[in-house]
Amino acid sequence: EADIAMYRAKQNGRNTLIFFEHEMHDRITERFTLEQELRNALQNDELELYLQSQVDKEGTMIGAECLVRWMHPTKGLIPPDDFIPLAEETGQVVKIGEWVLSKACQTLSQLPFAASAFSLSVNISAQHFQQAGFIDFVKQVLAESGADPRHLILEITESLLIQQPQKVIADMQTLADLGIRFSIDDFGTGYSSLSYLKRMPLNELKIDKSFVNDIPDDANDSALIQTILAMAHHLGYTVVAEGVETQTQHNFLASLGCELYQGYLFHKPQPYQEWLNNIASLKPNKANQKSPD
Ligand code: C2E
Ligand code: MG
Ligand code: MG
Ligand code: MG
Repeated sequence: EADIAMYRAKQNGRNTLIFFEHEMHDRITERFTLEQELRNALQNDELELYLQSQVDKEGTMIGAECLVRWMHPTKGLIPPDDFIPLAEETGQVVKIGEWVLSKACQTLSQLPFAASAFSLSVNISAQHFQQAGFIDFVKQVLAESGADPRHLILEITESLLIQQPQKVIADMQTLADLGIRFSIDDFGTGYSSLSYLKRMPLNELKIDKSFVNDIPDDANDSALIQTILAMAHHLGYTVVAEGVETQTQHNFLASLGCELYQGYLFHKPQPYQEWLNNIASLKPNKANQKSPD
């Protein structure tokens, strides 16, 4: 009996190996094709900007996050999680980030009201931030668009602090001196050194959706959220909860003093033009009235 079992295991082992070889070959081919296609995506104007509005406790729109998608000629709309990691490996993420940043600044300068309390957030990959010339690029885009830097928020992740934290903090300070604000995205999922965090010119923490999903039922996640909010508030940061989908989640977060919300419960990411039309049709409210000047 023992011999038979071993024989089967070997058979299975061999079958498994063959299966992996096929799968790996397919994946490598697919990856290679996608990599080539991504190279052309920018030239062919295939990137699309989506915007997801964020709201405060009262439900007033206070800003939006810029989220990129790739309109692939045959595969259709590809979400960022399916091509940003590849773009990071190939370095393409720099060009993609530049495109999003330019588009965000153009949008800021075109908003139909003097959005005194309205900001756009842009995801900046660590590679892009650390690219020589990043600061100059940001300055150039601001100058060309005429956007007010005080309405631009750059979302960075904890991974940015792994290499040369001193240099990163100094560069952040240079940008912060222009009026740009910084937000830590997906907070709690990376390796944060709290001692570095407190030395960064930070304004905002975004609590990752994975912590929001199961509140308040999951006691661990609830405790984590409570701790993050308390810490953030002690350090003077605004907190944005990501991925808020239910009223129960919203109530729990609101009871802990969470200031801002981004999630399907309020607004889904919308294609650029649709979002812009929607914004244009809004009645100015106290938060985003046209200033008298
Ligand atoms: P992120 O920056 O954490 O963005 C939030 C993600 O959560 C977005 O996914 C958004 O659509 C999604 N989301 C928001 N509210 C809800 C909700 O209530 N339910 C659910 N299920 N999802 C919600 P998206 O657009 O697929 O983007 C995924 C990630 O791709 C982003 O995560 C960000 O890390 C990256 N990304 C997107 N655009 C850019 C970009 O322009 N540059 C870079 N470097 N990365 C980007
Ligand atoms: Mg983000
Ligand atoms: Mg996030
Ligand atoms: Mg996230």
